[in-house]
Amino acid sequence: MEILLGKTLAELQTVAVAAGLPKFAGKQLAEWLYVRRVRSFDEMTNISLKGRETLKASYSIGRHSPIAHADSADGTKKFLFEADGQFIESVYIPEEERGTLCVSTQAGCKMGCKFCMTGTLGFHGHLSAAGILNQIFEVDAVVSSDGRSGGLTNLVYMGEGEPMDNIEHVLRSLEIMTAGYGCAWSPKRITVSSVGVITGLKWFLAESDCHLAISLHNPFPAERQAIMPAEKMCSIADVVALLKQYDWSHQRRVSFEYICWAEVSGHAGNTSPRHAKELLRLLRGLPCRINLIRFHGGNEQFRTADEKTMEWLLDYLTENGVTTTIRRSRGEDILAACGQLVATYGGDKA
Ligand code: SF4
Repeated sequence: MEILLGKTLAELQTVAVAAGLPKFAGKQLAEWLYVRRVRSFDEMTNISLKGRETLKASYSIGRHSPIAHADSADGTKKFLFEADGQFIESVYIPEEERGTLCVSTQAGCKMGCKFCMTGTLGFHGHLSAAGILNQIFEVDAVVSSDGRSGGLTNLVYMGEGEPMDNIEHVLRSLEIMTAGYGCAWSPKRITVSSVGVITGLKWFLAESDCHLAISLHNPFPAERQAIMPAEKMCSIADVVALLKQYDWSHQRRVSFEYICWAEVSGHAGNTSPRHAKELLRLLRGLPCRINLIRFHGGNEQFRTADEKTMEWLLDYLTENGVTTTIRRSRGEDILAACGQLVATYGGDKA
């Protein structure tokens, strides 16, 4: 049975006409799916009974509750979903003024980054736009209903998978989240991450206004390739060259994620003065920011940099004109921190 969630307005209009409804019923369907976020056709009270029965015969809505959840001591919540026949995870991160959801775009990942537990899973499939949107709508419903938070305010596409490797469905989900007929979110509330898959990146830059975060982690190609095999296919030099051609003056932001290590496989990590200088050289002329991230373990080959070294790197980059922050790690106790998603479960049934 075909799924309605994830269809654009034009597609919903086609669905409506094929079901014997007027074309404007497509807009009504979009409102039921994306604004009121109903779970059944019976709730669509302004669609004729006959029309609803016809739709029911060929379509399902496509909403699925989380199978389980786990709660961190710091308030972070991890949710397990079954999506497109695979198990995937999403992480809700509450902060004082915002509630951010980290969504998955694939089950597992092809990119094989050595420091990432998701990378060790291998690739198990792309998520459809419905599988991506379902995570957002379901978690929003859960966290809005607890009475303590105002629901989701921000999205980061940084869960399982490489978004640019599933760009068609990622763009479709972004359209629905930001379009007037959909959820009407500002694109500035959404950040999509990538290791730098160039073809997807070009498409993303042209078709979306959402922010971009590039997983950099080492400015030297050989050292980067040793920890991120994707460097061989899409070099960071080519990625940065592409980003330098883009006009970033319209409040769209590009940031670089940089996990800080003191040591990698018995060699120096990525936080030395040599690395800092090369980072500046690589990014010169590109208006961007760098997010330094504390490594939370999970792979003995990687030893995290200490606080003092991270502070030094922060000061060095900032003094040399690059806006830099140190990102706090969240949800480590439930394996919900960056790169820890492996869809194995120790939480409670939702
Ligand atoms: Fe994939 Fe991202 Fe993990 Fe790399 S860090 S293996 S791109 S999920």
